[in-house]
Amino acid sequence: LVELRHVEKHFGTLHVLQDINLTIDRGEVVVVIGPSGGGKSTLCRAVNRLETIDSGEISIDGKPLPEEGRELARLRAEVGMVFQSFNLFAHKTVLQNVTLGQIKVRGTDKRSAEVRARSLLDRVGVGSQADKYPAQLSGGQQQRVAIARALAMDPKVMLFDEPTSALDPEMVNEVLEVMRQLARDGMTMVVVTHEMGFARSAANRVVFMADGRIVEESAPDEFFSNPRTERAKDFLSKIL
Ligand code: ATP
Ligand code: MG
Repeated sequence: LVELRHVEKHFGTLHVLQDINLTIDRGEVVVVIGPSGGGKSTLCRAVNRLETIDSGEISIDGKPLPEEGRELARLRAEVGMVFQSFNLFAHKTVLQNVTLGQIKVRGTDKRSAEVRARSLLDRVGVGSQADKYPAQLSGGQQQRVAIARALAMDPKVMLFDEPTSALDPEMVNEVLEVMRQLARDGMTMVVVTHEMGFARSAANRVVFMADGRIVEESAPDEFFSNPRTERAKDFLSKIL
């Protein structure tokens, strides 16, 4: 479904993505882990073109990423993204946050968009918060609204970049549970996270990134019990 071939990216002299090759199949949950500055966020951002790449190819459903215009807006809908910092529209209600993209990008009429939004908000457990503003919600609730907003666009794949890192500990699980459910429902997901419990229980594959490279790629059990590289062993010894 998502394919990266020989992807290269520099920020000035910094080589942030080095010959990245990665294929993500439909329905697969890929967890990306690795030390800070390794290029995980840049990789995610490249897949929905929040970041351009210097060379190589990224394709979705066999089609290269569009460069601009309406096609780019459609890509952003097809590739749902959830960030560490929620990024909700502060001056819109929860309901409006989830209807806006449907109306503007998908051309859905307001009534249908609201019906869909309410059903998605129920699904992530914040149905009763629909008329509030983001600042009136807890971090965990805001993040679940962000997930509902991405889902409203009917994405082919969802990218999560450290979705629980900014949350108070007691709210981490409510967000991870929504993500686990999404995985069980067959959503294709790329998840950058330090939540190793989630990686073990929900991932089909773990990709370990460091210094702009994919250093190791394996099944979660294998990765955690028997990492092959010193880099991965060292990383795991620090976080487990
Ligand atoms: P973290 O775990 O801290 O989120 P990461 O693996 O997500 O790290 P990236 O955010 O992808 O890492 O950053 C990779 C490298 O690129 C870092 O050294 C970072 O400082 C640098 N970088 C990221 N964005 C930019 C930018 N817009 N301009 C210049 N350098 C950048
Ligand atoms: Mg990051």
